[in-house]
Amino acid sequence: MQTRTVVIIGGGIAGLATAVRLIRNGIKPIVLEKRPFLGGRAYSFTDKDSGEEIDNGQHVFVGACEQFQQYVADIGVSDQIKLDERIGFPVLKDGKISWFKAKNLPGVLANLSALLGYKHVGAISKLRILWGLLSIKLTRLGKNSPHDLITFDDWLRDHGQNDSTIRNFWNLIILPALNDDITAVSAHTGIELFKVALLGSAQNPAMGIPLIGLSTLIGENAQKYIEEHGGEIRTGVEVSSLYIADTKISGVMTTTDETIESEAVVSAVPAAAMTSLIPGSSDRKDDFFTPAESVQTAPIVAIHIWYDSPVLTENFVAVLDSPLQWVFNDSGLKSGNRNPDDTTQHVVISLSGAWEWQDRPKQELREIFTTKMAKTFSLANSATIKKFAIVKMLEATFRVAPGSQKHRLSQRTPLPGFYLAGDWTDTGWPSTMESAVRSGNQAAEFIIEDIGTSQQSNLPQSE
Ligand SMILES: Cc1cc2nc3c(=O)[nH]c(=O)nc-3n(C[C@H](O)[C@H](O)[C@H](O)COP(=O)(O)OP(=O)(O)OC[C@H]3O[C@@H](n4cnc5c(N)ncnc54)[C@H](O)[C@@H]3O)c2cc1C
Repeated sequence: MQTRTVVIIGGGIAGLATAVRLIRNGIKPIVLEKRPFLGGRAYSFTDKDSGEEIDNGQHVFVGACEQFQQYVADIGVSDQIKLDERIGFPVLKDGKISWFKAKNLPGVLANLSALLGYKHVGAISKLRILWGLLSIKLTRLGKNSPHDLITFDDWLRDHGQNDSTIRNFWNLIILPALNDDITAVSAHTGIELFKVALLGSAQNPAMGIPLIGLSTLIGENAQKYIEEHGGEIRTGVEVSSLYIADTKISGVMTTTDETIESEAVVSAVPAAAMTSLIPGSSDRKDDFFTPAESVQTAPIVAIHIWYDSPVLTENFVAVLDSPLQWVFNDSGLKSGNRNPDDTTQHVVISLSGAWEWQDRPKQELREIFTTKMAKTFSLANSATIKKFAIVKMLEATFRVAPGSQKHRLSQRTPLPGFYLAGDWTDTGWPSTMESAVRSGNQAAEFIIEDIGTSQQSNLPQSE
């Protein structure tokens, strides 16, 4: 029997991961989510016309996202994601395709073989990039590192890179991975990303994708697991403030004036939503929570086009020197759920750092992107567009601009009984599902250290 309860504010990946980790240690989580559904920024909805489950934005992960994959395994649905063995994706530039594809070699050699075979940079540029990668390998990053004060673009230019290598190689990875242009992200995060991905094991940069809609993968499966193991999920419940008893955070108050008591509370909401729960936080300059008020966000715009016949032959393709950025063949990626006679192809154009597009009307975006598709992919020229939709996520991710490291707070706060989770907290990872899971796991570990477990769980402990 679980005798201890912890309230978790927010039913996104961070909140759900916290709940799963607590359950595995014999503590009962009560997840409160203000919206009617779980998943937070990783959700899907049903398209009225086709009945298809459409994601709010294409979500990919890489092999290095170990805690995200473990979380998916913990809720018992590893078969609903797929991870490649090695990195490999086609890149289109000026009508020519070149694959960035690793050979079957051990460790980092596999990743370097992808660079050597990549034809959108010449031989001299490859030497430059290798020099850049070697400089990254030799760079030590620590807490408060000076690399957080300059942009990755500036750092790369100081380490032998030029317009061509930055545009055709470095930003090809940075823009989708960090949802920002290379000129706006900190060198610290850029260096860390390449250390973990390209300079790590062969599977670290390999791409992984969900095989089903995000709400089913992230929300429904987690709900089933949590409820079956004694946890509680309440959707449509918005927390308005923390409930303080005897100078300790002892629960929460909801917008309907309900008090829900617990031994500890985890805020698993975005930074701005968290700071609004803290009474009077901005009054004091040295306040632990105040830096979180400076966390900034970046938009992603997803353009969905349904063609009556296939226009992409691959599951995804990156497009250089084009507004198309990355184009995904959603029908191919989720082919397991499709009627084999259905020739419709659902294509998703994922626009990162989408400030340029976020305020444009649907008709204008339709004109621009369907024309670009027809010019870029010959099959799109002859296919008929059956349907067009846009999903704009204005606060899709937090920004990793220079100086942003100090805005990321520890999961353990100075307020007794109050903990933080959320992709934006101090995990060392950019705004990703991996960061969300890591934050939740860490918050749960701190709670277990501080209040102990109710009992020894008979479930296998996760790493
Ligand atoms: C379009 C798009 C594409 C993305 N692509 C990728 C990708 O390819 N790969 C990747 O790894 N990541 C991607 N991300 C980022 C990823 O989705 C996030 O990093 C992750 O989902 C964040 O989870 P979270 O739990 O920290 O926060 P959130 O998902 O924001 O969850 C917070 C939850 O708290 C709830 N809440 C807020 N206030 C309250 C309150 N007062 N009371 C109760 N509930 C409250 C919210 O409704 C929300 O459900 C993408 C995000 C978007 C939007």
